[in-house]
Amino acid sequence: MTQPLVVFDNVVKHFGSYQAVERMNLEIYKGEFVAIMGSSGCGKTTTLRMLAGLDKPSEGEIRLNGERINDLYSWERETPLVWQNLALFPFLNVLENVEFGLRMRGMAKAERRKKALEWLERLGLEEFASRDISLLSGGQRQRVALARSLVTEPPILLLDEPLSALDAHLSVRMQGVLTGLQKDLGITFVYVTHSQSEAFAMADRVVIMSRGRVEQIGSPQEVYLEPHNRFVAEFVGGKNILGGTVVGFEDSALVRLDSEHGGFLARLPEGKTVVPAERVTVCVSAEHIDLTAQPMRRNRLSCTVVGEEFIGSMVNIYLEASGGLELQVQKLQADYNRMGLRCGQKIFAEWDAAHALILRGD
Ligand code: ATP
Repeated sequence: MTQPLVVFDNVVKHFGSYQAVERMNLEIYKGEFVAIMGSSGCGKTTTLRMLAGLDKPSEGEIRLNGERINDLYSWERETPLVWQNLALFPFLNVLENVEFGLRMRGMAKAERRKKALEWLERLGLEEFASRDISLLSGGQRQRVALARSLVTEPPILLLDEPLSALDAHLSVRMQGVLTGLQKDLGITFVYVTHSQSEAFAMADRVVIMSRGRVEQIGSPQEVYLEPHNRFVAEFVGGKNILGGTVVGFEDSALVRLDSEHGGFLARLPEGKTVVPAERVTVCVSAEHIDLTAQPMRRNRLSCTVVGEEFIGSMVNIYLEASGGLELQVQKLQADYNRMGLRCGQKIFAEWDAAHALILRGD
């Protein structure tokens, strides 16, 4: 089995009595693009800063290539960090900024110039070599910051919300630059973001954090399709969360539930077991709910249409069932138009048992 490039082994970080990161265990492999995501203050940046050597773990061990790095200063480890504000040197031009790391390592002038120019070319910046940093656009500055970090050819690059200052269009373009670079170089990226779309578009695996705790680690597909708990289900969005009580079993994977909204069937995730009378939380994706006047499936709810929202080619339809339960349904615009729904209309929402997932962690 290959050795992970980075290991967080029971890492804890306190600031005084405040616990910013709770017992984190995470392995990152060479060539992976890992995104750490979660809402503001959940400990993403602290995790990255510990890996960069800017904060020291209070407990546990961080290993790079099998070596403990807890006590190494940031300049003693090869873990450069690209910040949101990029921190480029305003008194140096583009080429001098990119050369900087090589100069610090004592590389001879001709050699470092050649290397820096190679990186500028790779990032499409050769024509700006002698330009002042202040005369570059946001996207160009972003690429200079990347070139400056990559010129020393580190095994890993840490990125803290690097695209958050760019407009939406440029951000999507830079996502392509980043993933292209990462795959071409085979370098490992650890990328902190609060943006789900950025993380899902680029990462091989995402780490979802809340209040200092890792809630789930998996590929974007796994996390979206099989959220482990209510926090992750709500964080990835587009999910309906229902409560129920176990009343029996249809087979090894399908569980019969009873709730104030009637009986229905739900699927158990692999490895989870439940017992009769146990309370469970069930998640149904908005795109897996069908709307009909004549329900055929056991999993159904009588609802009233209370709103709709157009989001490009899709439409979110909002429903209310008895007891104030709210449901969100997502349909293609063309299907929505065919249905001819209107606010106040009564309709049944129905879904397959296979699409009602009992959450593992609730
Ligand atoms: P954001 O998306 O807002 O940047 P984050 O998930 O990156 O948030 P962190 O910067 O890691 O969050 O901070 C986690 C928690 O630790 C926050 O509550 C923050 O206030 C606290 N914290 C971070 N650095 C320090 C510090 N040096 N001293 C005290 N508390 C800190």
